[in-house]
Amino acid sequence: MAITLCAAGFQACEQTTTQPTGFEWQIDRFDDIKVLRYQVPDFDSLSLRQKELIYYLSQAAVCGRDILYDQNFKYNLAIRRTLEAIYLNYKGDRSSAEFAEFEKYLKKVWFANGIHHHYSMDKFTPGFSAAYFNTLIGAIPAESLPTDFGSREALLAAIEPAIFNPTLYAKRVNLDADSDLLTTSAMHYYEGVTQPEAESFYAAQVDPRDSTPVSYGLNSRLVKENGVLTERVWKSGGMYGAAIDRIVGWLEKAATVAENDHQRETIETLIAYYRSGDLHTFDKYSVLWVGDDSQVDFVNGFIEVYGDPLGYKGSWESLVNFKNLEATKRTATISANAQWFEDHSPIEPQFRKPEVKGVSAKVITAAMLGGDCFPPTPIGINLPNSDWIRRDYGSKSVTIENITSAYTEASRGDGFNDEFVLRAEDRRRMDEYGSLADNLHTDLHECLGHGSGQLAPGVRGDELRNYGSTLEEARADLFALYYIADPKMVELGLLPSLDGAWAEYAKYVMNGLMTQLTRIQPGKNIEEAHMRNRMLIAAWCYEQGRAENVIEKRVENGKTYIVVNDFEKLRTLFGRLLNLVQHIKSTGDFAAGQALVEGYGVKVDPALHAEVLERYATLNLAPYAGFVNPVYEPVLTGGQITDIKVTYTEGYIDQMLRYSRDFSFLPTVNE
Ligand code: ZN
Repeated sequence: MAITLCAAGFQACEQTTTQPTGFEWQIDRFDDIKVLRYQVPDFDSLSLRQKELIYYLSQAAVCGRDILYDQNFKYNLAIRRTLEAIYLNYKGDRSSAEFAEFEKYLKKVWFANGIHHHYSMDKFTPGFSAAYFNTLIGAIPAESLPTDFGSREALLAAIEPAIFNPTLYAKRVNLDADSDLLTTSAMHYYEGVTQPEAESFYAAQVDPRDSTPVSYGLNSRLVKENGVLTERVWKSGGMYGAAIDRIVGWLEKAATVAENDHQRETIETLIAYYRSGDLHTFDKYSVLWVGDDSQVDFVNGFIEVYGDPLGYKGSWESLVNFKNLEATKRTATISANAQWFEDHSPIEPQFRKPEVKGVSAKVITAAMLGGDCFPPTPIGINLPNSDWIRRDYGSKSVTIENITSAYTEASRGDGFNDEFVLRAEDRRRMDEYGSLADNLHTDLHECLGHGSGQLAPGVRGDELRNYGSTLEEARADLFALYYIADPKMVELGLLPSLDGAWAEYAKYVMNGLMTQLTRIQPGKNIEEAHMRNRMLIAAWCYEQGRAENVIEKRVENGKTYIVVNDFEKLRTLFGRLLNLVQHIKSTGDFAAGQALVEGYGVKVDPALHAEVLERYATLNLAPYAGFVNPVYEPVLTGGQITDIKVTYTEGYIDQMLRYSRDFSFLPTVNE
């Protein structure tokens, strides 16, 4: 599971950090996007061997970039390569308004790893015409264009409608339950397969007696060949093999400088999985990975399933990181008390875990982001996703603190709280505790929330289907919200006072009911799982607490504000909803899950939405942010690596073009 940024336009906090002044945090801005840099503090304090390990893993992290483009949509690589060919070769007027629109579109495609918005999943609308596009293409050498389609005409026939026809491939992931989720989604995890066909294909593989099932379908495209459903597996020698071989090449180098034997075996098992495509080997790798507590760590593979409306297929991603030893003391405290939290959770006793296993929680410093973690980046991760591995071996949970601190630094004094937070006392609490409370929320969500609870006997865990991701995020958030206001937080020294919790409460419900709508276009409903979860929680508590006015929608000077009148009662409501969501997950009650999500987490109040968008527009902020990576360069002395240098000067366009030039290994068409 990944956790994305909670607040639309992360609030500026007065948290004192020891960042060097003069560092340029924000390096680009277009449309609803800002591109930031992150720093890698303490990289220089690592050993040479650790730096070398990070270097090899960071190269592997970039090698799978094309895979994600192709997974997201079948013509993404063709479109990206065509746009890049134009960008690099067009010698006509580059200062025109139309060319500026063209460049903006290309920047958006890079940011989203395709032509659909990374968060809303809606296809981008280009700000230039098809006629202009044709002019650009006609003005560049034909040999600079992708050749896989056979001719320029065939290439254009494929990509032009994809770019310009608004009704074609309109949504990458459609979660609207009234339609066939596969045929209405543009993602490329299935080809010519309907939802019922895919569901029965995977249902037939499930053996109810198997208590350690593999993650069916995780690493393949499901296609129909001569009328028969078959999986095209992503592996060396199989689909995406050319990119996978490069990843394996760097992993082999990484294995030679692993921190210890356990980590070496972990990396070698990942290599074996990439070679065979065998999901049992992937599980073996995941078990080893959970048990690897080395300082340098990484994610690399087909991991998260948010890009598949049915939740089977893993998008390729990578995150290379190392432990932030000082901040990890905080999560170590939480982990050490995991059983206490589980035992006191406000859920039905039979759904509590009798024995919480191996909650390994740490705060990390991201060193490299790749695939589905790049450029938009999660701020926390809890893996593996396999329910039985979590049950038997626990999970690893991380908070990525150099990413959250980059958000904080980049949004200092942006006026967001002044506009949307009514009471001075709330603003003061957010200023004082906002950053600490955010990090603590993420820790609780990732370290404990996702790992808590257990299923009833006979329940597999995939019964909630397209509502599964939203309800799982809700469960983890509710666990975090309930406990962040527990006196235990102060007792353990994690919060100086419960004022920190009240800062988080005020911000959470304001975001869920109101300010996260800045990320939604007028007329649209909420689609993304984390956003649905936040609205579900806030809207349910608003309704349930209405008689006692726990949460109030107050209008002053024509502006709507969300005000929490009773924090303690709100905590009780969070606990009640946690109990309800846990019951739904533990019993696999699809109908109840559907009712909860559709009833509270989807529909947007158009009047409030319009107001929020108008107020937000006056602040001129970008609701989404992502990152460029630092550049790592080996220092060679006599052919030996004697150091790895890290620099933070590469620009957004330069990095994207370099990755496309040096790390592009797949054909334009991947069948
Ligand atoms: Zn989560």
